[in-house]
Amino acid sequence: MINVCDIQVMKPLLAAHGFHFSKAKGQNFLVAPWVPASIAEEAGVDRSSGVLEIGPGMGPLTQQLCLRAGKVCAVEVDNRLEPILRETVGEFDNLDILWGDVLKQDIPALVARQFPGLRPMACANLPYYITTPILSALLEADCFDSVTVMVQKEVAQRIAARPGTADYGAFSVFCQYYTEPKYLFDVPPHCFVPQPKVTSGVITLRRRESRPWDIGDPAVFFRVVKASFAMRRKKLSNGLASGFPELGKAGAEEVLQACGFPDNVRGETLGIPEFAAIANAIAGRRSR
Ligand code: SAM
Repeated sequence: MINVCDIQVMKPLLAAHGFHFSKAKGQNFLVAPWVPASIAEEAGVDRSSGVLEIGPGMGPLTQQLCLRAGKVCAVEVDNRLEPILRETVGEFDNLDILWGDVLKQDIPALVARQFPGLRPMACANLPYYITTPILSALLEADCFDSVTVMVQKEVAQRIAARPGTADYGAFSVFCQYYTEPKYLFDVPPHCFVPQPKVTSGVITLRRRESRPWDIGDPAVFFRVVKASFAMRRKKLSNGLASGFPELGKAGAEEVLQACGFPDNVRGETLGIPEFAAIANAIAGRRSR
């Protein structure tokens, strides 16, 4: 197997194919072999796993996934990488590469087609310019046992943040609604070519076996969350009144009072059960 993380191997291979990195496609390739091996290991990939990889690049993580998984499906937008991947991962017969934009894929259909009888997982060193839309699509697909990804460290911290902390926001709640995130390890800039300006972090998001909240209408729940963080520095009643104009200020205050919150409560201190209670109270007023 070609060691694509060896810079002495990588550079001539790229040059032989006239490949230049595309900043616009978020191309920072791994040159530290311990990183892809640790991602595959920590994700718990084994023969029962069907793994969706996003952005294989030259294939360092793809190799580690193929060595462990039942099946790997890698989606790559840059077809200049095709001859390179043929050399680095062409030997694996448990790999399918799909050429195109992952955001244009019907992910549940792809998973059903690619991984029958296997435990679906997603693993990736994500292109950072589209971290949020990709993660949103993976979680909303609601079909992966786990999603293990490398992202900017600050994004990983936001995903795993607890209520009442500066990093906690609407995206934390969104991710924690679907999964239980766990921060795994830092990856410094020198592990990539070209080097990014920021430290990266690997995080694993394990799908919740059950969602222990009674949420009548998830759409209202996510509207409440969005409204609660839109005006972070203001009282929650202001955020709710602006996110739900039909309530008005008085209605928003009534809802919070009915849920037992003090008048000056702030959204950033609330967890999922509290947002659920507010959403249910709003939905209840509508059906009155
Ligand atoms: N996995 C490789 C590694 O770790 O060295 C490459 C990771 S690089 C950070 C991100 C990869 O995602 C690049 O190969 C890039 O071409 C690919 N990519 C960027 N946008 C994409 C998209 N919309 N859909 C699929 N792949 C994409």
